[in-house]
Amino acid sequence: MTDTAASTSPTPAGPHVIPRDVHGISRKQMSPNALRVLYRLREAGFGGYLVGGAVRDLLVGGAPKDYDVATDATPEQVRALFRNCRLIGRRFRLAHVVYGREIIEVATFRANGGDDEGDRLTDDGGRLLRDNIYGSIEDDAIRRDFTANALYYAIEDFSVRDYTGGYADVQARLLRLIGEPEARYREDPVRMLRAARLAAKLGFTIEAATAEPLPRLAPLLAEAAPARLFEETLKLFLSGHAVASFELLEATGLLPALLPETAQALASNKSGALRRMLVQGLRNTDARVAAEESVSPAFLYAVLLWPAYCRALALLQAQGVHAVEAQRRAADRVSLHQVARTALPRRFSLPMQEIWLLQPRFALRQRKRVFRLLAHPRFRAAFDFLELRLTASDSHAGDVAFWREAQLHPAQAVDASEHAAGDADDPHEADPADAGAADDGGAPRKRRRRRRNGAAAQAPA
Ligand code: ATP
Ligand code: MG
Repeated sequence: MTDTAASTSPTPAGPHVIPRDVHGISRKQMSPNALRVLYRLREAGFGGYLVGGAVRDLLVGGAPKDYDVATDATPEQVRALFRNCRLIGRRFRLAHVVYGREIIEVATFRANGGDDEGDRLTDDGGRLLRDNIYGSIEDDAIRRDFTANALYYAIEDFSVRDYTGGYADVQARLLRLIGEPEARYREDPVRMLRAARLAAKLGFTIEAATAEPLPRLAPLLAEAAPARLFEETLKLFLSGHAVASFELLEATGLLPALLPETAQALASNKSGALRRMLVQGLRNTDARVAAEESVSPAFLYAVLLWPAYCRALALLQAQGVHAVEAQRRAADRVSLHQVARTALPRRFSLPMQEIWLLQPRFALRQRKRVFRLLAHPRFRAAFDFLELRLTASDSHAGDVAFWREAQLHPAQAVDASEHAAGDADDPHEADPADAGAADDGGAPRKRRRRRRNGAAAQAPA
């Protein structure tokens, strides 16, 4: 091993080795491509280890979604072994071995230790700015985040090597940070979100000393790169365990750091209607993931930020801002503030806003408007959202019924509605702001001035 820095072993006694017949992971469960990489490394005289989420997931009986390999070969040595290999990353070079759509990531053992090595920079708060030195397998183990993520499956004897006590923790279903928790969170605050996410995903308990600093250090997340927080948010909520993730974010005090305005709106919503709706939206998302249906970040963010939107809208309307203008401004404001926290790309924030701004239009039933809304590219998402809002309030149950029918038989639905419109008290004539203005996510507010033809006074353009 040429480039490997000399390093001290954190466990001079060596790893705890768990033999094949004890850990029970079989090569049959693994990606054949990952195995190919491991065997190739071994044939060439290098160490080849499966590491990280894949080993953890195999131990708990899950199917890994990707495979990471660690080795003592340098990236250049890895590239020389595989035709289908490219090197990526500037700060720390990684090898990607590409098999069609599957990429096996091969990383050289890396160290973070050795404070006076100059290659490791932290800022005043202890946050890691740069780390790019190779190390031993023990170094590589202790720079990882959780003990469960630091287990190495060795191709040479099919054993699992454990340098941090991760094997026992996995057996006990415990998520435990390696090292001193506060220091590890300060180095990289995103580890706090990873704790909540992995505990939710695996059904693990966050070990007490690992959980303790979370509410206290949650504000450090404001220093994390918004793009990384966006990626983490998608992993938290679009991987099939959104409800569990949300509940853990609440319990650990991380929610206000990730979704500040939503957390504030939920806290001030005494009836709990907004939270009920949000959780139902996440439950639906989990069901879609389980059924292998598509899920969209735009709809997810529409759900996550709806409480913030309702609150902003209610505040603007209390200041006397005209309904349509208030809706537009509330949507803009909430997106803008959230983007500063989790970089939400416009290709998601624009459809998210459309889903919100279409809500009042479901209260309008003139023939032309009905057909126009049905043809709107965001109609389906906006209607799903309208249905979801029933969890918070059933004041628009009539609209949901109308639009269900209108999707099947638009002309008949409009005719029937026009017949009924003779009635002066027709609930369908409500102010469009009713559909989204209330700070309870949809409870009707007092009626405003109406036009004679039954359309609402302030119909959005
Ligand atoms: P998932 O199931 O979501 O893929 P994972 O644990 O595999 O979970 P990855 O982001 O794929 O997560 O990371 C792979 C491995 O890299 C982790 O298992 C862990 O060992 C290490 N790692 C990832 N992020 C960090 C971090 N912020 N700090 C230290 N180690 C990390
Ligand atoms: Mg992974």
